[in-house]
Amino acid sequence: MIDDAPAPRCVICPRQLLDHETGRFICLPCEHRIDQDLRKLAGPAGLYARLCLRIQPGRGGDGPAVSGTPGRAMPCNEAVLTMTANGGLVSTLETWVEDWATYGLARRSTGGRLQHRVDVAVETLRLNLTRAASRHPALDEFAREVQQAARQIEAIISGERAPRRIPVTCPCGTVRSVTLDTDGFECRGCGAEYGHSEALKLTVAERRAA
Ligand SMILES: [Zn+2]
Ligand SMILES: [Zn+2]
Repeated sequence: MIDDAPAPRCVICPRQLLDHETGRFICLPCEHRIDQDLRKLAGPAGLYARLCLRIQPGRGGDGPAVSGTPGRAMPCNEAVLTMTANGGLVSTLETWVEDWATYGLARRSTGGRLQHRVDVAVETLRLNLTRAASRHPALDEFAREVQQAARQIEAIISGERAPRRIPVTCPCGTVRSVTLDTDGFECRGCGAEYGHSEALKLTVAERRAA
């Protein structure tokens, strides 16, 4: 019999599957990428743990608690809370564990604190990923969600690392934003030049006036 059917393609990238990938839904490079994303999320130095440190400095991921001055919430905190709380990343992962378990591809987690649940979910998903590659038809959706979660957390972490900008007002009325380590600036409105400490004094003056 002549084999004239088109070679099956990876459901993710969608490269044509090679001989040694026969029977799989995804290609080996895509499986590798998923595994990398999963690995990035878990563990004491993983993205989830690092995100939890953003809200509980030095305490790890027992659960969210907002730090900081009331009324001066950092804009990132909501995104951090949404992602770290029960219902965030841990639920995304556990929903897939639940789904994979119905295919006999994962072991359901037995509770514990959130960091532990993330680690256990990632562990069972990684352990079964190769088998899932040829047994689970929705790996593209899984890959997308895991990648999105990893990227979102990376963005939150790097966004918070960026220096905070403070608006300062020149006596001429021109407003601009500076960072705490500014070298100074020349006012666009009146041309006045401010060095580092003068620029920051403008901030202080504005806060006193407010
Ligand atoms: Zn692929
Ligand atoms: Zn000015």
